[in-house]
Amino acid sequence: MSNVMIAARGLEKTYTRGEETLRVLDGLDLQMDAGRFNALMGPSGSGKTTLLNLVGGLDHADAGSLEVAGEELAHLDSGSLAHWRAQTVGFVFQGFNLIPVLTALENVELPLQLSPLPRSQRREHALHALELVGLADRARHRPKQLSGGQEQRVAIARAIVTDPKLLLADEPTGDLDRASADAVLDLL
Ligand code: ADP
Ligand code: MG
Repeated sequence: MSNVMIAARGLEKTYTRGEETLRVLDGLDLQMDAGRFNALMGPSGSGKTTLLNLVGGLDHADAGSLEVAGEELAHLDSGSLAHWRAQTVGFVFQGFNLIPVLTALENVELPLQLSPLPRSQRREHALHALELVGLADRARHRPKQLSGGQEQRVAIARAIVTDPKLLLADEPTGDLDRASADAVLDLL
């Protein structure tokens, strides 16, 4: 079995706004192996989010090949891509993106709505994910009742609850103080 998690060849992505076209990825070649923690660094506007969105199947490339977790994403239509994404990828965003009216537990349970697991098991998995990030005692809190660091840990629990092959985090500590940022990085 291949140990390659991400393989990009000649990847291209161009944004068009009115008359303006912006070539963000211009023939990118990249390989990342499974079982690794990789940090992608570059100045603001250099295309990090663009690349993560392609790797996570949130957007399509214009050209090139992108194989992630053994799947060539260029071959998937948007329905298959959504299915693949739900089974394969967990996302953590800079702004946490928790749903304010749901409790921590309900937020973590959300990605499992797409799974065939019965309700009691979905709850069990969500609680286990919250335990893994050290927040089982905050299960009934809403996002507003949590600190930024705790919110991001809930978001990590939500990202891992489906046991994804790949965890993508886009500036996950960008909105956090130093101590919370260190805690989140330790956790990841
Ligand atoms: P980074 O995450 O490294 O800061 P991005 O991938 O967000 O960079 O953006 C790369 C470039 O593409 C930036 O110049 C940005 O303004 C532009 N861009 C990003 N998304 C869009 C979009 N949907 N439409 C047009 N331009 C975009
Ligand atoms: Mg970005």
